[in-house]
Amino acid sequence: MDPERIDLHTHSHHSDGLLSPAELVALAARRGVRLLALTDHDTTAGCAAAAAACVAHGIRFVPGVELTSQWRGREIHVVGLDVDVREAGLVAHLAGLAQRRRQRLAAIGERLARAGLDGEGIAATVRAAKPVPTRTDIARELVHRGLAQNIAEAFQRWLAQGRPAHAPTEWPELEATVRCIVAAGGHAVLAHPHHYKFSNGALGELGAAFRAAGGSGVEVSLAGMGPNDASRAASLARRCGLAGSVGSDFHEPGLPWRPLGRFAKLPDGIVPLSARLGLQAP
Ligand code: AMP
Ligand code: MN
Ligand code: MN
Ligand code: MN
Repeated sequence: MDPERIDLHTHSHHSDGLLSPAELVALAARRGVRLLALTDHDTTAGCAAAAAACVAHGIRFVPGVELTSQWRGREIHVVGLDVDVREAGLVAHLAGLAQRRRQRLAAIGERLARAGLDGEGIAATVRAAKPVPTRTDIARELVHRGLAQNIAEAFQRWLAQGRPAHAPTEWPELEATVRCIVAAGGHAVLAHPHHYKFSNGALGELGAAFRAAGGSGVEVSLAGMGPNDASRAASLARRCGLAGSVGSDFHEPGLPWRPLGRFAKLPDGIVPLSARLGLQAP
């Protein structure tokens, strides 16, 4: 028999996904997902609609968020699971992140203008559509205007680090981010460790700092991880005493390498983070 399908890392159109929360949940239901978290970048705006849709489909819902942070000056993402979306500290933290994202959007618009594009118009369009704008939204607008063939090219030409419209941004420190999630009653999970270009030693120090700050888990089974990435993530979990989380980092249906819904099989010796969810009073 198939193990349960679980997805604890997904995005809706409230951040840089394409689907509404209700559409995302309907797709999860079609794919047999039994436990689903919505983890938009720096916003919980889609959680209420996702929760309602999950009730209708008989899916267990986990309110979540993927918080942008930094450690040793490098950008790190932290997934918060089972957070109280009304908790005052979390609400304030998200308001700060939204403001930073709007400031970064304006800075990117200025840089696009310096490169000869209608940066102001592009920024205004994205700002009007998204209270918590992401670079993917800007990339989509560049594609929409025929200035790039696809999102990847928009990043390569303008938005990625080292490209003309990249705007360096300070994010909240890792420790403060983890503490915020824990204070909101949630579990903090180190997102996609294979994305960070750290040596094994530095990655171990990141895992230790994350655990010391109150972190609970690390993503050990994520779509897009190769066998080496997965075994490195599993060994990080074992070394640092972190539980293992699973997810797709789903953004849009057109990307077959990031299918919504993952089988919950974890490497030997890894405690599933999902077992710790839903234990709190509602
Ligand atoms: P942001 O958090 O606003 O900086 O946006 C980052 C998002 O852009 C990530 O979550 C990815 O979904 C996407 N992204 C980042 N780098 C690339 C890239 N090189 N090509 C395509 N998408 C990217
Ligand atoms: Mn994203
Ligand atoms: Mn991420
Ligand atoms: Mn993500």
